[in-house]
Amino acid sequence: MSRPPLLTLDEALPQLLAHARALGRQETVSTFEADGRVLAQDVVSALQVPPHDNSSMDGYAVRSCDVTQADTVLRVTQRIPAGATGHELGAGEAARIFTGAPIPPGADAVLMQEDCEPLDDAQVRCRVVPEVGQWIRRSGEDVTRGATVLHRGDRLGPAALGLAASIGLSHLDVAARPRVALMSTGDELVMPGDVPPQAMPPGAIYNSNRFFLRALLERMGCDVTDLGIVPDQFDATKRALHQAALQHDLILTSGGVSVGEEDHIKPAVQSLGELHLWSLAIKPGKPFAFGSVRRDRTDTDGPSAHFIGLPGNPVSSFVTFLLLVRPFILSLQGARQVQAPRWRLRVAGDGPRADRRREFLRARRNTAGELELFPNQSSGVLTSAVWADGVIDNPAGTVIRAGDVVDFIPWSEWLA
Ligand code: AMP
Ligand code: MG
Repeated sequence: MSRPPLLTLDEALPQLLAHARALGRQETVSTFEADGRVLAQDVVSALQVPPHDNSSMDGYAVRSCDVTQADTVLRVTQRIPAGATGHELGAGEAARIFTGAPIPPGADAVLMQEDCEPLDDAQVRCRVVPEVGQWIRRSGEDVTRGATVLHRGDRLGPAALGLAASIGLSHLDVAARPRVALMSTGDELVMPGDVPPQAMPPGAIYNSNRFFLRALLERMGCDVTDLGIVPDQFDATKRALHQAALQHDLILTSGGVSVGEEDHIKPAVQSLGELHLWSLAIKPGKPFAFGSVRRDRTDTDGPSAHFIGLPGNPVSSFVTFLLLVRPFILSLQGARQVQAPRWRLRVAGDGPRADRRREFLRARRNTAGELELFPNQSSGVLTSAVWADGVIDNPAGTVIRAGDVVDFIPWSEWLA
């Protein structure tokens, strides 16, 4: 294989996304089950929310023209709990009303009960003069009938589920879950639970990537087939890739994408399909591969599964997942917004030496809201990703000095 071209992230991501056409499959799911899914429909409201003007306080609904001075006494002629409806309010009358109950016709203000003094069952003293409209929530102030409240391509979160429910939707059309095959490579890998720490053979390490990659994929709404650990052998790698291509939209591997003799992923992909790009000018995350694996080996124009090969080093794997795999999977689901938003934040201390590659430095905010960097930025140090609450996006060749304002991508935006 020839020397790999180092692509910048800004070159690589558009290439990936150009291949990530939406899968187009969709399904109808209960609104309860739709958290994290991508909407396949515009959601249009068939009603006003709230449906009617209603009280935002427990108190008394009044006609403001009746209460032009403090200590006015009104007759209490009706009682309207939430779920009930009242009737026309006459001159000199008040309605006992509770939060969420409809405002009766004629009333134009609510006095909270703390501002009133009930005299007996039938009368109330208004201690203050109300303003017109006070403590009334207007019909349609949240949603108007006919409004599009959620859009095709929106990724649903808990608040969106509540909003869909508030307009009466028990089910939603969402993009089908992308079917993703996950495999780890590396003959040094041992599964936690298989061998206790004190009995680990020399040279062995536990498979950590498998755990966070599976969790990340599941958070992204994927249907994950975990194919476990594939041996560092060309034929075994090829067999595993071919099998995985048959039933999946995407094959995601970790490790084995460098150019060493034990790295079989890239030649195996090339023998079964195409490699579109590999090696990125980022740190961590230089060994990265993207391509496709044909479902039918003999049909070069036939359907194929997408392939993404992540680096073996855990932090490289984690960061490249968030930078590249996440937007790719969101695109497969037809999402409108695939890139995580960034914040501009000040850095509390100096950063590491400048690097020729664009760096994603693990950092977290201190109580003053300034960024502190994890002292060890090595791509094998997973502690840094747990300690940090995001990464600083540091352009190639740039030294960060205390007080600089930098681009920060918080995990919270990525892991949502
Ligand atoms: P590779 O890209 O296969 O050369 O792997 C690079 C480094 O990452 C090596 O030190 C591997 O032992 C390590 N590594 C690869 N896969 C995993 C994994 N699943 N969990 C933890 N470390 C890994
Ligand atoms: Mg390896």
